[in-house]
Amino acid sequence: MSTIADVEAIPLRAPRDPSDLDSSSETIVVRLTDDEGRTGIGEADAPALAVRELVFMEDAHAWSRGLRGLLLGRDPFEREALWHDLAAATIYHGRRGLGVHALSAVDVAVHDLAGKQLGRPVYQLLGGARQERIRPYATLWPGPVGGRTVGELMDAIGALCERALSAGFTAVKMEAFFGDLVSDRELARCIREGRKLVGDEAAFMVDFGYRWRDWRDALSVLVAIEDSDVFFAEATLRHDDLAGHAKLAARSPIRIGAAEMAATAEECREWLEHGQVDVLQPDVGRCGGLTELRRIAELAAWAGAIVVPHHWKTGISAAAAAHFQAATPNVPYIELLSPVVFDSPLRAELTRPEPELDEGTMPLPTAPGLGIELVEEAVERYAVRE
Ligand code: MG
Repeated sequence: MSTIADVEAIPLRAPRDPSDLDSSSETIVVRLTDDEGRTGIGEADAPALAVRELVFMEDAHAWSRGLRGLLLGRDPFEREALWHDLAAATIYHGRRGLGVHALSAVDVAVHDLAGKQLGRPVYQLLGGARQERIRPYATLWPGPVGGRTVGELMDAIGALCERALSAGFTAVKMEAFFGDLVSDRELARCIREGRKLVGDEAAFMVDFGYRWRDWRDALSVLVAIEDSDVFFAEATLRHDDLAGHAKLAARSPIRIGAAEMAATAEECREWLEHGQVDVLQPDVGRCGGLTELRRIAELAAWAGAIVVPHHWKTGISAAAAAHFQAATPNVPYIELLSPVVFDSPLRAELTRPEPELDEGTMPLPTAPGLGIELVEEAVERYAVRE
């Protein structure tokens, strides 16, 4: 047994435009090193410097401790026991927010390290392959409106769609963040146009960017686009409007997706019981890591729902999500911030190798752990220096 001998938390930041909605311009990498020098990495989709503080903070009291001190000397193979100990020792400040996001980064790093110690890919630690291939979808994000017309935004989406399809994606999501630029009727027309851009064959998802306060308004658009064969409708209503989601899901001809910001299985259980959604979209770097994402998928299966995890970070959480999908039956797709479709320095440069996409799918990863390595020159280039 080789225990955890060092814990690092490395904030990285690329040049960015804070008015954009690009959470891949920053990350916080947690790197664990064992007694024999093997390393495991994870990342959180949360403010980097705040997460670093939660890793390095001094213990305040038994329910509010720093993660680093809790990790040193522990055996990474005992992943669930470790998760529970860390959650219990941070419950005072963690619960469903930033503390759980920080724990997510640690949990993914623990899996990576345990896999490397055993010489096994992470999906085998999760119980083994339940799917033969990884099936990602590419998100088409044209950027914020920024004074453009709807026509210009649709042109930008069209160009991204072409990049995705020619890269081999057979599933794409249109980000319909048009706000006041369009009426609901015009929005429905844009979605139909989006379906034409994608073609008949590819799976087509739509993210509405939390457009509605009234589930009936959302429903009228979803009914109007029924013939566009939309796989799921994401971010229709305000994120925490569980009652509205339940009413919408009961009547919508299209699957209702939600919970991209959720932390913990408890929060996701509420989405299933009170929100009655069809698709849970937690992010491995926010919800509590692979350990918690697996519990969430189990809950979803019991509730007759599927999981399609959110991703808008680097190759680390992309790899973690791929292992999760490999080991979990009710995960038809994973979101993938593809470096081919979206220009993001950290996404493109921080890790390697980038898995090959072939007719819409990728092979199961075979290398030990997450099967990726950090590119040290990129760490050097983007490290936040104070
Ligand atoms: Mg989204």
